Amino acid sequence: MVDKIQVGNVEIVAVIDMVPPAREPTVFIPSVPREAWEPYEDEVLENGMLQLYYGCFFVRSEGKTILIDTGMGPGPHAHLEGRSGDLLGQLALKEVNPEDVDIVLHSHLHPDHVGWNVDSSGDSPKPYFPNARYMGPKKDWEHFMQPEILPNAPHITQNVVPLIELGLMEFIEGEHQVTGELTTLDTPGHTPGHQVTLISSQGEKAAIIGDLIHNPVQIHEPDWCAGVDTNKDDSRISRKAFLERAERDDLIVAAGHFHPERHIGKVVRLEGRRYWQVL
Ligand SMILES: [Zn+2]
Repeated sequence: MVDKIQVGNVEIVAVIDMVPPAREPTVFIPSVPREAWEPYEDEVLENGMLQLYYGCFFVRSEGKTILIDTGMGPGPHAHLEGRSGDLLGQLALKEVNPEDVDIVLHSHLHPDHVGWNVDSSGDSPKPYFPNARYMGPKKDWEHFMQPEILPNAPHITQNVVPLIELGLMEFIEGEHQVTGELTTLDTPGHTPGHQVTLISSQGEKAAIIGDLIHNPVQIHEPDWCAGVDTNKDDSRISRKAFLERAERDDLIVAAGHFHPERHIGKVVRLEGRRYWQVL
């Protein structure tokens, strides 16, 4: 297991914001019956439960520090048994101060990916990363701002809207060049604008995949979709295309929702079957 990996001149470092309560697999992936998990039970479940982790990654590229996703936020979060996030504390342990972050790049605009955007505890909202430019998918913004959706998305009102008012938020789409070594790739389905970050440096390649894959079971079963995926057909298409690319290009893959001892790996094929090979 690694927390840190070098990809050419780029460094990727993992940090965990919080560990939410475990869920029943059939609650998280409602279309799949419990028996179908049996072949993967020991590999992907923990005591029969699906345990997500709210992990983020920061990347050092061309002298910049880029934080990819900001976790669930400080909390305590009543709907998650009162648990609290610790992203700033975990970054400090890796000697990253909030002032050091140049860019915050969101894979998508769900609550567990924008939590440490805005500090609303004072008189006026302030960014947690005071020197950062924030970037997020344009299609997610358009989706969540629909009048029938916004009332059920308080995380947008709290953690995205104030950044727009402060002039700190930029919405992007397509292949957006974040640095000379980092490019976004549209992978719609989980949300309409979901994007993976591709890294390419000195002939080495990696990807930070957001919620394209929540659990390693989806490497074996790419048709299995989280109940929260907005468009499940698109989610399947994006996941399958990415898995093919990961295998073909020998990508280093960083998956923030995987177990922290298994969240950086490669997609490899053995005897006709795909596996998650932990690095
Ligand atoms: Zn997520």
